[in-house]
Amino acid sequence: MLITGGSRGIGAACATQAAGAGYDICFSYVSNPGAADLVKARCESLGATAVAVKADVSVEADVINLFDVCTSELRTPAVFVNNAGVLGQQGQLADFTAERLAWVVNVNVTGALLCMREAARRMSTDRGGAGGSIINVSSKASTLGSPFEYVDYAATKGAVDSATIGLAKELGAAGVRVNCVRPGPIHTDIHASGGEPDRIARVSKGIPMGRGGEPEEVANMILWLAGTEASYVSGALIDVAGGR
Ligand code: NAP
Repeated sequence: MLITGGSRGIGAACATQAAGAGYDICFSYVSNPGAADLVKARCESLGATAVAVKADVSVEADVINLFDVCTSELRTPAVFVNNAGVLGQQGQLADFTAERLAWVVNVNVTGALLCMREAARRMSTDRGGAGGSIINVSSKASTLGSPFEYVDYAATKGAVDSATIGLAKELGAAGVRVNCVRPGPIHTDIHASGGEPDRIARVSKGIPMGRGGEPEEVANMILWLAGTEASYVSGALIDVAGGR
């Protein structure tokens, strides 16, 4: 299993759960090698071979190298989890700079598409691959729009939803299922990068289940989509959002 952004949050939960389920793991990080080392050690303690690769998903050469390292150190991924994503400080679109918009779009859209492209090239049976499963990590924000927080982020996740639908149709006959999970508010560091580490406490009253989710609850769905129990599931956008 190859996971982008596997060093923290949802990606890290996915890596450790998958390691416990018998997958060997290759994952990327971009800025925090210490966190990556911890995840690698946790995966290894669960019996997996684990490889951590520094790779910015918005840089084409990094993405190609990530897939190359996964293939040379382990094998061509059978499961690709397209998880890395960023958000900027909360605010209104009217106040956002062009630099901030470019950063969010580059990582969340261009990066996600570059990663999907590499996975498609290497996994499709009509291009010599062995087939498999791609799971994109979008957000419930794609349906809510994130007003007064980060409309740009929500829009990038709408793009991930659309790409999931299209790529599932392109790869359906090439042995690759393509699906998407849309988490609601999950307890990770990402809310601090938006400027409100305790955001979940504020938004919890708007979540029917009355609480934020844990990264492991998202990883559960990703692992299910990866496995044979989901053998006829493709093009699905699955909310893991407490009913939000
Ligand atoms: P997180 O805790 O902030 O972790 C982000 C991960 O992505 C880290 O491993 C980070 O690496 C990596 N990353 C950041 N920028 C990157 C880049 N340019 N290239 C490659 N990797 C990069 O985030 P999270 O909450 O787990 O979010 C994971 C995914 O779930 C994102 O796509 C996010 O949009 C989505 N999501 C999260 C929530 C939520 O409430 N948490 C809700 C809906 C959707 P370093 O450790 O090296 O920095």
